[in-house]
Amino acid sequence: MSDIDSLEDENDEQALLEEKLKALEADLRQKKEIILAQHNKLEAFFESSIDAVVQMDFDGYITGWNQQAEKIFGWSAEEILDQTIEQTIIPERYRDAHNKGMKKFLKSGETSVMNTLIEIHALHRDGHEFPVEISVSVIDSADLQEFNAYIRDISERKHAETVIWNQANFDSLTSLPNRNLFLQKLEHEIRSCDRSNLSLALLYIDLDRFKDVNDTLGHDMGDLLLIEISSRLKKTLREIDTVSRLSGDEFTVILGQIDDPLSVQPLCQQLLDELARPYQLDNEKVFLTASIGVTFYPQDSKDIDILQRNGDQAMYAAKGNGRNGFHFFTPELQERALRKRKMIKDLREAIQQQQFEIYYQPIIDMKTQGLTKAEALLRWQHPESGMVSPSVFIPIAEETGLIADIGNWVFYSSVDQVNRWRDQFDIDFQVSINTSPLQWIDEAAAMNQWFSHLQQIGISGQAITVEITEGLLMDANDKITNRLLDFRDAEVQVSIDDFGTGYSSLSYLKQFDIDYLKIDQSFVRNLDHDKNDLALCEAIIVMAHKLGIKVIAEGVETESQNQLLKEFGCDYGQGYLYSRPVPASDFEALLREHPVKPQSRSRTKKRTA
Ligand code: C2E
Ligand code: CA
Ligand code: CA
Repeated sequence: MSDIDSLEDENDEQALLEEKLKALEADLRQKKEIILAQHNKLEAFFESSIDAVVQMDFDGYITGWNQQAEKIFGWSAEEILDQTIEQTIIPERYRDAHNKGMKKFLKSGETSVMNTLIEIHALHRDGHEFPVEISVSVIDSADLQEFNAYIRDISERKHAETVIWNQANFDSLTSLPNRNLFLQKLEHEIRSCDRSNLSLALLYIDLDRFKDVNDTLGHDMGDLLLIEISSRLKKTLREIDTVSRLSGDEFTVILGQIDDPLSVQPLCQQLLDELARPYQLDNEKVFLTASIGVTFYPQDSKDIDILQRNGDQAMYAAKGNGRNGFHFFTPELQERALRKRKMIKDLREAIQQQQFEIYYQPIIDMKTQGLTKAEALLRWQHPESGMVSPSVFIPIAEETGLIADIGNWVFYSSVDQVNRWRDQFDIDFQVSINTSPLQWIDEAAAMNQWFSHLQQIGISGQAITVEITEGLLMDANDKITNRLLDFRDAEVQVSIDDFGTGYSSLSYLKQFDIDYLKIDQSFVRNLDHDKNDLALCEAIIVMAHKLGIKVIAEGVETESQNQLLKEFGCDYGQGYLYSRPVPASDFEALLREHPVKPQSRSRTKKRTA
């Protein structure tokens, strides 16, 4: 082969290679263009997406941020790239959860938000939160590890949903729940009653003669009236009670968590009183009353439809009874309610009519069996019903506030009585007076006058003991604590009544200067046959003595109870064994038969504070 030939061959080869190279380059260019086009297409898609698209690496740093993201979050891409999403778009209250979710994902590859659509709140640059819908996917390849989040601002949709929900569930005039929401709430309350084993009361309230207002004053006035009524109803009820307007002038109230059905009686009366106050509408003064029907779940029915029918029926019964009243669906409850209403009325008159009398029950010194004290027990001689038990009328007097006057009457009458006895028999006698917690809480001024009365008539405070309940001490605030010290200063002693039935904590008695504990009758009753009660009585006596407190056993009925208590070192006894409570004149006879010599008049304790 000549040199020329070999040269030509080489040139050919070179040309071939160059051609191949060119082809390759062209191919590469084309591929690049395709990739670029694809990239641009993706970018365009990314940018034109109606969702915000946010990319983030596995450390939480933002690596991608499209225009829509700029729009809904208020951050430009330049500002936000390389910041963490935690510090920028996640509201503070979600940050912990977010961090936990990230940690879990990095460990196990699992997260609850992946590949599902969830609704949460996001944070705008200006600090306000807004609802978003978000879906997250993950890219986890050799050269790329990223999260892709598609985020849509759903503020408008949420707002529209709220508007629609409100329209469907609230009355536009009064803004109260309408029938629809009322039923939902009723179902909800029923379920919580089932869980708590409590009752609920359903009240149907219908305005009396509302139509007359509409007819004579016009519908605008009628509307104003309904608005005022709804605000009075709301004002009278607790936050947790639901008032709804079912139609025209028909309202309902759901009262949840009720343990005693009759306990709603005062509230019904309060609602009636509130609604019966005159209404000032523009220049018109309008008078109006309402009728209320009351039914109870589960007592009256467990069926939600029947319950509504009951409420309606009871409301018509209230109208039938002359309006401006309430009526219980259950006949027995209705009867009790009526009796109670009458009793409240009669109780108001009882003091003026001098229907009260105080009986005295001896309290015996266990060591000497001497008669040194008595408990004043109130009796009500009702003109028609005869003797009414204090356990029946005292709670009603407390509920209506009448206890203040009654309690004062008991105090002044008992003090005068013991004053006379101490003079007449020249004895160191003491009367124990029951007080209601309400007197301590609401009637501070009245109690202050007690002390001046004692001074005025010149009787020692030692002639009196006041009986209080454990509950009062458990809830004692400074006011009550100071009042107890006032009694101490006046030398009036203090007993804890019905000890053992309440909190029965001896430790807190140390904080207060208590003189006597009265062991409740329920423990004394079983002394001779119940080992637990026996142990309990003995323990109370031992502990009380350690604290310098004397013990009175209540309800002593048998000689063996008397003996056991004596053995335990119990200081005093009270009960049918010694004597029933008796009128003052009979008690005087007892004093005459068993005169008690004066003891040393020393105090066990002095005020320390
Ligand atoms: P309490 O303070 O625990 O009074 C003792 C009650 O037990 C009295 O009932 C008394 O008659 C009764 N009792 C006494 N010895 C025996 C016994 O051996 N066996 C039995 N089974 N019972 C006995 P009463 O007089 O019906 O009074 C009931 C409650 O009414 C009193 O319970 C007290 O909480 C309240 N109360 C009575 N008078 C007044 C008062 O003037 N003011 C206040 N706030 N409450 C009073
Ligand atoms: Ca008592
Ligand atoms: Ca008692």
